[in-house]
Amino acid sequence: MGLDNIDLQHPLYPLHATARRLRRVVTSFAVASGLILLAGPSASAAIMPNLADLPNSQKNADPGVSEIETASVRVHLKAHRSHELSLRAESLQFAELSLSKTSARRFRARFSRADGRPLWHLLDASTGAVLAEASGHEVEIRGEKLQLANEKAPERMILRGAVGRETDVLGLFDLERYVAGVVSSEAPANWPMEMLKAQAIAVRSFTLARLADRGRFGLSPELKSTILDQVFEHQHVATRSRQAVEATQGRVLVDPQGRVAMAFYHSDCGGATSRTQDVWGGGNFGGTAVDAACPQNPKARWSLVRRLSVIARELKREGVLKGDDQVVSMVVAERDASDRARRIRVKLSDGREVEFSGERLRSALGYGALKSTRFEMLAYSFEGESAGIQFQGRGFGHGVGLCQWGARHLAEKGKSAEEILAHYYPRYSIRGSVEGGLAQATATLE
Ligand SMILES: [Zn+2]
Repeated sequence: MGLDNIDLQHPLYPLHATARRLRRVVTSFAVASGLILLAGPSASAAIMPNLADLPNSQKNADPGVSEIETASVRVHLKAHRSHELSLRAESLQFAELSLSKTSARRFRARFSRADGRPLWHLLDASTGAVLAEASGHEVEIRGEKLQLANEKAPERMILRGAVGRETDVLGLFDLERYVAGVVSSEAPANWPMEMLKAQAIAVRSFTLARLADRGRFGLSPELKSTILDQVFEHQHVATRSRQAVEATQGRVLVDPQGRVAMAFYHSDCGGATSRTQDVWGGGNFGGTAVDAACPQNPKARWSLVRRLSVIARELKREGVLKGDDQVVSMVVAERDASDRARRIRVKLSDGREVEFSGERLRSALGYGALKSTRFEMLAYSFEGESAGIQFQGRGFGHGVGLCQWGARHLAEKGKSAEEILAHYYPRYSIRGSVEGGLAQATATLE
């Protein structure tokens, strides 16, 4: 995958809007996510800002270090329309039932509601006999050579059914395995190793901080396998991506308070990165950087033309405008230090003015279309009387944190992963060690 397809994370704060949708998923944070400490000794975990604010684990003798256990990361892989899915496995574990290799190799998993209770059934595909039942919306399945609807499935997964809704398929992955899949999906594997290592540390940090944040806001502790969180392809991990993850195992970025940092990253800064505050109005600030080489990147410059009527329609869909609102003009009301459009102002046909953030405009027009908020707007006339705007822009992505193209330039100049991270996150430092063991990260407390 080339970086042209990559927009990386959806902004943190608009996620609140999805809270209601996700809240229907009732899961135990401790059991499901493996982030044991989040549900651990302190009931106040839900209001704590980040992982390392949590009290030290009892078993941890070092009062200055808190161990973050990550048994598995839940990743949403797919949604199926049907409430009955075909399965294939050499051996299968479905809730309490374990079937050895000698048992039937084709199965059907069916979700239903019996006597008002959600229920999953496992059926033998050839005889239709019910082999096992599991009550609840979710059932965990493990298997060797597991296939779901003829596609390769993770060895551990969860099927989540709900009446009248799609069936969700989630994979359960070790943290390090998940990080390797993200690095492999988000950065070309043939890029310099030090860039990939820096990327791996950023991804690991982002993952832990994002999961902690989800818990803090009462959301299901799971990640999407798309740009809404991090792109994650579970079926294939490139060798060099895996090597970069192994070489940085357990290492994370922490903020000045010792909390695991929400290490945002993006494709191309266009010359300079931005602050979280300027892009999303808040958040943990890791610092900014100037990348003199980025304006020379291939496809660094882009252009987009949109009719005002189309912009108005998309802003209505985004919830910024309503009803009969017609846009007559649009300007950048405010820019940040990196020249990104921080605030946009539209004038409506009834004379009113409406202001919103530049990232909101990207969300409305599409993150792949309006590639960044580092743009100028020019009036554009279509044939006939229809008025439009031409966006002339630079860079790709939200512009916060590590710039992938810039990190590549730095690695090519001989910079180490640590130096690259210090460039993009001057306020963060690296904690943890490669000796920490699989799926472990450490962070220093205040
Ligand atoms: Zn850059």
